[in-house]
Amino acid sequence: MPTFPGKSPFLRVIFVILLILLAYFILPIYLARILKVSPFRPLALFYLVNIAIIFYFSRKSFFRNSDFQLRLQELQEKMNILNAEYSQEVKNSFALQEKRMRYDSLGNILKEINSSLELNLVTEKLTTEAFSLIGKNRGVCLLYLIDNQLQKLVLFKTKKGDKGLVIQAKEGNILDFWVLRHASPLLVEDIKNDFRFDLDKLMALDARPVASLISAPFLSENKQLGILRLDSEAPGVYSQYDLRFLASISDLGAVAIENSELFKRAQDLAIHDVLTGLFTKVYFMERLKDECKRALSRRVSLSLLMLDIDFFKNYNDQFGHTAGDIVLKKLSQIVTRTLAHSHPLVSRFGGEEFCIAIAGIDKKEAFKVGETLRREIENEKVILRRTETHITVSMGVANLPSDTLDNEDLIRKADKAMYEAKRKGRNQVCSI
Ligand code: GH3
Ligand code: MG
Ligand code: MG
Repeated sequence: MPTFPGKSPFLRVIFVILLILLAYFILPIYLARILKVSPFRPLALFYLVNIAIIFYFSRKSFFRNSDFQLRLQELQEKMNILNAEYSQEVKNSFALQEKRMRYDSLGNILKEINSSLELNLVTEKLTTEAFSLIGKNRGVCLLYLIDNQLQKLVLFKTKKGDKGLVIQAKEGNILDFWVLRHASPLLVEDIKNDFRFDLDKLMALDARPVASLISAPFLSENKQLGILRLDSEAPGVYSQYDLRFLASISDLGAVAIENSELFKRAQDLAIHDVLTGLFTKVYFMERLKDECKRALSRRVSLSLLMLDIDFFKNYNDQFGHTAGDIVLKKLSQIVTRTLAHSHPLVSRFGGEEFCIAIAGIDKKEAFKVGETLRREIENEKVILRRTETHITVSMGVANLPSDTLDNEDLIRKADKAMYEAKRKGRNQVCSI
């Protein structure tokens, strides 16, 4: 095989020219001489063979080239598929990360809402987490609770991306009633295209524009407690996955809300008398102790009125125990109504005994207040079994600091004064 002499391009060109002369002229002419034929024949033959060789190699090269192009295309396609798969994997990995973050936060939510029995704290935590984890702190998050007495929804907590936004539907709207009626979560991707809801009716209740929404009920053993919802004025903001996560939060929330409502009821029962709604004796004694301390430190007078219904046993005997209860309720209403402006502490102290503490009035004023109250009670008509009757009370008044400086002694003195009123013939106010 001839090799290129040196590295000079000029020499290479000369070498190629010599090679061509040798192959295409000198060699065929030399062959023609040896074979003793005309030099045109070997030349023609030689060129023909050459053309055939060139044709063969260029054909081969052409096929090889197109095969290469095909393989290149296949590789390109494979690369495109791999790229698409990779970006899908990246997306999936983000989605998984978010899923993990959300479910991790479910554990935290559970821990925090179970550490408190305060309804306010529990609902605050639920709305804050739902608004940041699902709503990304945009749009609106609303928490409604059912008021069992009024049998309606009441807006309890609000979180808003736009602080200036006004929520008019304080008692919920048709979307919330749908969730309550079906007792199931709701996803609205675009309210304009949702045949279930009448947009005009919705706008009439709440002028705030809402295009997409997710909402889940607080359900506890089929008892409805309220609703947790997220909404946005843009369509398609929430997905099925967001709805499932919201439903998980509201499932946890339902248990915590029920616990805090039960706790509040238990607290209420410890503080309030079931029949009259007035303070219980135990709670009243605690409050009185504080009020006496405060009155002494501020050098303010505090008066106590002890009140007992006259011949109450007779009402029970004549009209029955239930009628007696009605009398007790009626009396508590008269006391609360008559003394409302004095901001008193009123308690049902015993069966038909009531104790009233009023800060800021001296003994003389307390006596006057007692007299007014006694007259109000005496003049009130009480209908028992279609019979009009009247009740009377005997009252004792004691004052701090004029009678004593001690809260328990204050009660003893007022009690003593009340017995004095009984002894003197009932239906009167006495002080010691
Ligand atoms: P006095 O003028 O001396 O106070 O006579 P009284 O009949 O009111 O006095 P007494 O203490 O003898 O009777 C109180 C009655 O109150 C006895 C009890 O049956 C009744 N009583 C106590 N608690 C309740 C209650 O929750 N409901 C009803 N209906 N009656 C009650
Ligand atoms: Mg009595
Ligand atoms: Mg009594």
